[in-house]
Amino acid sequence: MSIIDELQSLQAEAAAAIADAADLAALDATRVAYLGKKGSLTAVLRGLGALSPEERPAVGKVSNEVRQALESALESRQADLAARALESRLTAEAVDVTLPGRRRAPGTSHLITRTVDEIVEIFAGLGYKVAEGPDVELDYYNFTALNTPPDHPARTPSDTFYVRDLTGEPTAVAGESDVLLRTQTSPVQVRTMENTKPPIYILSPGKVYRRDIADPSHLPQFTQIEGLVIDEGITFGDLKGTLEHVCRAIFGSDRRVRLRPHFFPFTEPSAEVDVSCGVCAGKGCRFCKGSGWIEILGCGMVDPNVFGYVGIDPERYSGFAFGMGAERIAALKYDIPDLRHFIESDMRFLRQF
Ligand SMILES: [Zn+2]
Repeated sequence: MSIIDELQSLQAEAAAAIADAADLAALDATRVAYLGKKGSLTAVLRGLGALSPEERPAVGKVSNEVRQALESALESRQADLAARALESRLTAEAVDVTLPGRRRAPGTSHLITRTVDEIVEIFAGLGYKVAEGPDVELDYYNFTALNTPPDHPARTPSDTFYVRDLTGEPTAVAGESDVLLRTQTSPVQVRTMENTKPPIYILSPGKVYRRDIADPSHLPQFTQIEGLVIDEGITFGDLKGTLEHVCRAIFGSDRRVRLRPHFFPFTEPSAEVDVSCGVCAGKGCRFCKGSGWIEILGCGMVDPNVFGYVGIDPERYSGFAFGMGAERIAALKYDIPDLRHFIESDMRFLRQF
């Protein structure tokens, strides 16, 4: 076989191998096998030196043609395979934009948070500012400065969570600490009166703690919203007018409000406030136990004794205070029969609001 025949047979063999290469790696292996340093065509070309000078031009021309033909075949097959690889990758990684998206449930405020916000908003409209204080409180602010006598039942360890006193100060209750979890947000009112000159118009929402077993109408931790007004010439009429406005803003303009005499250490005179039952419109039903009224808050005129603790002149100033439970307000507004729902984190309940 002449060397030219050999070259042509190599070209045919290589062209078939290039056409058969299934992917870019196989194509590269084919290139190395024919055109690489140890490739078949390279080996043939090395043998050119042994040819006679007459033979060399013809063989050289054919070998160049073969090399060029193979290089061009490799190039075209490579472009072909690269395009195919890209296409299959695009197919594999394709995003189906017609698929429905994954729905994420956005977080929302707890019903109690929203109830507090709503009530704060109503009072902000009347010019009240929000005041805050510590949850862990001194006996002095929680009881003494609020005119609560030392033997008052609320001060017993069965009603109040006492915290071990780290100050080393003498305890206010025999055998007990004078540090406690506040049972009301009224300490915030005392702290405000200590630091602020009247006029004072504040609302103090916050968590309070009592040693109650959780049941449909009690929680050991709940949210209280208290208000305090101190100014010149404040009367019981101002208190009544304010609460009537607020109750209607919370429950609706068709509601009626009544005050019943009551006793609180901090206020004198004191009253409990009822709002007309929304279920029976005041006619009497099971929800209001037949009375047509539902108790929603306690209130009264600030006892002049309290002014004595905080250095406010009772001859010049008078004021009123009131307090309500956010859980109770929300339960009445949304007909929730059991306060424990608010602290159980059951999404089936929470999603209803
Ligand atoms: Zn009723």
